[in-house]
Amino acid sequence: MNANQLSGLLKAQQKIIEVVALGAPLSECLTTICQLIESLFDSPKAKSSILLLEGKQLWHGAAPSLSNQYCKAIDGVAIGPNAGSCGTAAFTGRQVIVSDIEHDPLWKDYRDIALPYGLKACWSMPIFSSQHDILGSFAIYYTEVKTPDNVDLALIEQFSHLSGLAIEKHKTSLRESELLTCLKNSNEKLQALTSVMPDQAIIIDEEGRYVDFYGGDPQLLEDSSNNMVGRKATEGMPAEQAELFMRTIKKCLDSNEVQIFEYELEVLKGKCNFEGRFVRVNHYLAEAPDQRHLLWVARDITDKRQADLRIEQLAFYDPLTNLPNRRLLIDRLRGAIDKVKRHKVVGAVLFLDLDDFKRINDSLGHNVGDQLLIKVAQRLKPLLRDTDTIARIGGDEFVIILESFEKNLNRVMGQATSVSKKLLANLSHTFHLGNGDYRIGGSIGIKLIEGDDVTTDDILKHADAAMYRAKKMGRNCFAFYEPALQELIDKRLEIESEISAAIKQGHFCAFFQPQVNMKGSLIGAEALIRWRHPEKGLISPVHFIPVAEQSGHIHHLQQAVLEDACSLLLQLQKESLIEDDFSIAINISAGQFDNTLECSLKRIIERFQLSPRRFKLEITESMLMDNVQDTINLMHRLRKDKFRFSVDDFGTGYSSLAYLHTFPIDELKIDGSFVQQLMPKGGDTAIIDAIIAIAKQLELRVIAEGVENHFQVNQLSLRQVDGMQGYFYARPMQASDMLNWVRESKESYVVNYDI
Ligand code: C2E
Ligand code: CA
Ligand code: CA
Repeated sequence: MNANQLSGLLKAQQKIIEVVALGAPLSECLTTICQLIESLFDSPKAKSSILLLEGKQLWHGAAPSLSNQYCKAIDGVAIGPNAGSCGTAAFTGRQVIVSDIEHDPLWKDYRDIALPYGLKACWSMPIFSSQHDILGSFAIYYTEVKTPDNVDLALIEQFSHLSGLAIEKHKTSLRESELLTCLKNSNEKLQALTSVMPDQAIIIDEEGRYVDFYGGDPQLLEDSSNNMVGRKATEGMPAEQAELFMRTIKKCLDSNEVQIFEYELEVLKGKCNFEGRFVRVNHYLAEAPDQRHLLWVARDITDKRQADLRIEQLAFYDPLTNLPNRRLLIDRLRGAIDKVKRHKVVGAVLFLDLDDFKRINDSLGHNVGDQLLIKVAQRLKPLLRDTDTIARIGGDEFVIILESFEKNLNRVMGQATSVSKKLLANLSHTFHLGNGDYRIGGSIGIKLIEGDDVTTDDILKHADAAMYRAKKMGRNCFAFYEPALQELIDKRLEIESEISAAIKQGHFCAFFQPQVNMKGSLIGAEALIRWRHPEKGLISPVHFIPVAEQSGHIHHLQQAVLEDACSLLLQLQKESLIEDDFSIAINISAGQFDNTLECSLKRIIERFQLSPRRFKLEITESMLMDNVQDTINLMHRLRKDKFRFSVDDFGTGYSSLAYLHTFPIDELKIDGSFVQQLMPKGGDTAIIDAIIAIAKQLELRVIAEGVENHFQVNQLSLRQVDGMQGYFYARPMQASDMLNWVRESKESYVVNYDI
């Protein structure tokens, strides 16, 4: 290449780069390339051509000196191993030099197209991209048969390379503009979509700055959207929420996964709850496609949250007092147990039962009862710490979990004690309900949560047991749970269910123990209940009467005893075995001495056609002392009907002697323990003597029970009691045996005692 050619080449190169860099259309760039190489060849016989490869076909790029018809004729030519110079070069990726089109086999299929235009030779070179992909073919045609020299080939290579640059640049900018259109389209779609959504769609940048707003209710924004662009979303959030917000954004950008985040925000409408969904958006800004953005779809879930809260409230709270219910309590108890196990500490649970709730509820109605429960809850709650739990688990029962967990058991006990005292003291103040003031009390059972194998069931059961014990201690008391007590309670529950089964199966009956006078004549009998257990045999009343009294089964038992007593009386009367003053003593439990008893007594004597005089009702001293006025009234009514009363176990209770004469009683019964003091070597006879003296003074009959031996009989005769009962005469026996006993004694009997 000579100096002229070289400088021409350099100039041509510069010109081409300039045209390309200025972004001239591709056809213009390629035409310039063609014109410049032709000028360097400096011969009208040389005509350059650029074809562009698309798929497997070559399409017209530029060929300013070739005839248009020829260009059209080869437009879209398929590349291949024998496809002229250009088609073969683009196919093989190598330069293809054809010096004589007419005779070269590569042109076999195309020579008839080329020759008419005077084209005799064609030297072609593939155009490569920077990645070495084939972009097309660059060619010089000659209108004479000719072989290129090295300079020709070097020029062709150079210009083919320049063509590659121009084509590549064009393709990139094409891609960019496509991308832009794409972006524009997708933004428009986003806009269309979000404009019909109730949710707010917000675009934020990676620092959480507002960029764009789409759709949604503007009232759900903190300000008008115009004022907000550029502001940070975290500005209006509390620090903790802001931090979580930024963390969520980062996670979304890093993972490219949808992130969901619930938050609360003060917006134009007021304080609202939102559920935000974040999704990464790439190339959001056409002018800055590398910046990362997020689409944040904010949904107002205030209503849903309130509904959820309401559902939770219903599921976990007592609707009357708004205190946690049993379910939530159990949940919290589990938490407490966990804490105790994990930190090896001790906790405390208080079981509170109101003392007089039932009375108020029954006498004043459920409305007032409800009011009372609400007031109790309101009064107790402020006495506890916020972290303590106070739950209402039914009727008038409240359970409190104290949040003061400690390693030192004594301190926990101390705290439980002081809280219990505080609660009870406050409960004892007057409650104003409806039109009146009422006083109630409470009983508290305390269960400490300690050790490894505790369950929620046990805690509640034990706290309940302790409460029960507290109740027995009197009003406004508290008691700690004691394990030994639990055994008793378990047994009690077992007996309770056995009793109800036994009632249905008719396993209860009365035994009878005769009572005689000084002369040894039969004056009566005491009916004593027995449980004929199919496996355990006869069970003594001491084992089941207290349980039956508490569970309310005592009425059924009483009924069984009355039926047996009436049948026996009927039989004795029928056989004329008894005198007019013969009576059967019936034991009456505390708590049973009420109108129901009055009714069932009247009903049964009516049914058996018996006189009330045949019955002596045995009541105890404590029954006389509790609820005095009601008791006296009922006694008077029954007495008027000619039932008689005997005070059982007299001397063992704490009866007020001052009151004794005010009760309509007929008889005092000396307890067996005093009779036992009558012994040959001198026992303590002071009490028995005192009882007899009182009886005489008040003109009451006196009867001694538990009489076991001759000596006792003699001593009692000396003291002139009216009647005696005990093993000395007979053990309690079933009705048929009693009948026989009476028959036999009638026949044989006249016993003389040594006096
Ligand atoms: P209680 O009313 O003091 O009955 C007297 C108890 O002394 C009876 O015991 C009787 O079997 C027993 N006993 C009789 N003679 C002697 C004796 O010579 N020596 C000794 N050591 N004991 C004697 P039981 O039948 O086991 O009754 C125990 C308690 O159960 C009764 O004491 C009474 O409080 C209650 N009870 C029995 N039947 C009924 C009933 O039908 N209704 C109610 N509410 N309580 C009943
Ligand atoms: Ca008795
Ligand atoms: Ca007794």
